[in-house]
Amino acid sequence: MSNDGTRAALDDPSGAVPTMTPRSAGASRHARVTRAPDSLDTLHHQMPTKSARKPASQARLERENAHDEIYEKIYVAILEHRLHPGTKLVEERLADIFGVSRARIREVLARLAHEQIVELYPQRGAYVAKPSIEQALDVFEARRLIEPAVLRRLIETLTPEKLARLRRHQELELDARRRDDKRAVIRLSGEFHSLAAELAGNSALARNMRELSVLTCLMIFLYDAPTTTSCRADEHSQIIEAIAKRDPTRAERLMLEHLDHIESSMRLESATEEVDLEAVFKG
Ligand SMILES: [Zn+2]
Repeated sequence: MSNDGTRAALDDPSGAVPTMTPRSAGASRHARVTRAPDSLDTLHHQMPTKSARKPASQARLERENAHDEIYEKIYVAILEHRLHPGTKLVEERLADIFGVSRARIREVLARLAHEQIVELYPQRGAYVAKPSIEQALDVFEARRLIEPAVLRRLIETLTPEKLARLRRHQELELDARRRDDKRAVIRLSGEFHSLAAELAGNSALARNMRELSVLTCLMIFLYDAPTTTSCRADEHSQIIEAIAKRDPTRAERLMLEHLDHIESSMRLESATEEVDLEAVFKG
């Protein structure tokens, strides 16, 4: 059913495409975007202005080498809901926007597809993933298994530096809440979980957690009650304090309760109910 968003992305008349060079990914992460969120053109807002100093060939080479930057930009745009689930990611347009070859974009899309953030269809192209309710329930089941293990491992290997990183991240999240920057809140609260997995030091867990937290962000967009945005801030703080006290039992319990809260804020049950067709069409 994704075609509406797709058309919007394709037909946006403001798609004039400047040639650009990358700037730091850090700067783009905090770019505030005020335009219609459905459009691929929101990506333009993250892009820097044209650099006059470098020869075109050198600039192009640098762009091609900035392997993760395009991936990160698309990833963050999806995470922040600037690209909605079901939006078509048109290869040519992305190649123009980022000033790279289509092959390079295909590579990035393949990586996103591998992580289940993007869905690739032969003949039709790439779309931002649109997890079904069944997939959403699977994601929560997987998170309930993985996240307690992440916390146990994190507490076993905890250092003051790791704790400081968690707290710094929490500060960013609280700051985004104070500014009422919902997009940043959604992204940062998802990243809290990925960061915990990264700091736990098991790369397989971290990779899975990253994927699961992006899918959760997409699900929040698709199924969340309109009043809620994502994780509750105070719950992350409580989890961090349990980690700081090296109390795995409490940390795990808080995490499972936290996941219950996220899941129950989504409207996942309605569509899984059997529909009584007779009742629908009777009278
Ligand atoms: Zn959370």
